Amino acid sequence: MSHLVADFRSDTVTRPCPGMKKAMVEAELGDDVLGDDPTVMQLEQALARQAGKEAGLFLPSGTQSNLVALMAHCERGDEYIVGQDAHTYKYEGGGAAVLGSIQPQPIEFEPDSTLDLLKVRAKIKADDSHFANTRLLCLENTCSGNVLPLAYHGEARALCDEHGLGLHLDGARLFNALVKQDVSLAQISQHYDSVSLCLSKGLGTPAGSVLVGDADVLAKARRWRKVLGGGLRQSGMLAAAGLYALEHNIARLADDHSNARRLAEGLAAIPGVSCDPAAVQTNMVFAMIDDPAQAKPLEDFLRDNGVLTLGGQVLRLVTHKDVNEAGVERALVLVAEFFSS
Ligand SMILES: *Cc1c(COP(=O)(O)O)cnc(C)c1O
Repeated sequence: MSHLVADFRSDTVTRPCPGMKKAMVEAELGDDVLGDDPTVMQLEQALARQAGKEAGLFLPSGTQSNLVALMAHCERGDEYIVGQDAHTYKYEGGGAAVLGSIQPQPIEFEPDSTLDLLKVRAKIKADDSHFANTRLLCLENTCSGNVLPLAYHGEARALCDEHGLGLHLDGARLFNALVKQDVSLAQISQHYDSVSLCLSKGLGTPAGSVLVGDADVLAKARRWRKVLGGGLRQSGMLAAAGLYALEHNIARLADDHSNARRLAEGLAAIPGVSCDPAAVQTNMVFAMIDDPAQAKPLEDFLRDNGVLTLGGQVLRLVTHKDVNEAGVERALVLVAEFFSS
């Protein structure tokens, strides 16, 4: 590979900037398992306050954050309703079932990444010993780069209230949605019992997620975090990166969204690739390579020229703080060159 031009594999690939590293090195530290790391507490409280929730919990990963939330809401033999392609169901190794004895009830996402609430209602099981106990609905925002419609959150809440279900949001990329819709965290989180927020995606930290929610749910989640081995000690170093990101890396997500839009517009103009720029809402672009046989050669050609993708006939390209406009333009030139030769 020549020098790196742009890494579109995921928004998890960002490297901490000098300012973030400085904040990490200078963080005041304690022992978070013993409950006295001041920087972790500051981050947990800052996000809980922004979300209008009673408590926050810092975790090493988004996967663990979702898992402890599911395990806090559901017990053995309980069930949660979730999207068929949702991260917590499809991309977390079946953790809820493996480690929580929680049965998933997946439902296909609608094209806008909502779950049709009529379909959800139809899957809620009666109180009958034949059935698992339906306890929780889990939604995802953003989901494949799609932003859930604002009105939908309240509708989902109303359904959950009607049936006594908890409501969890996998908000790994929720800040992208907030910037896109120009709303506060609390405007969305008010409808949820718990919300998981990733710091290591668009926010650009090396690691970490924060779960926010009601005190009772969070107390159980804190216990499960320890059980799962997620109790870190001087994790204030990582939390400091999170605090830095909250201050410096949220508003700039709009740049990632405009870079994604530009990338999609450029790809749409290249014969051999199909891409709908109007479908790009945040920082993810999906592009179809018309001839499947070209997918691997394209991936290799791009890599040889410093542009990293995950490949496949449907290319998922993710923009983030370490991809700039010049990188996007260069990638477009390379894709055009590939298809013209
Ligand atoms: C990335 C991601 C997570 C958490 O992933 P980790 O790699 O474990 O931090 C959860 N949900 C969604 C939708 C994600 O994209």
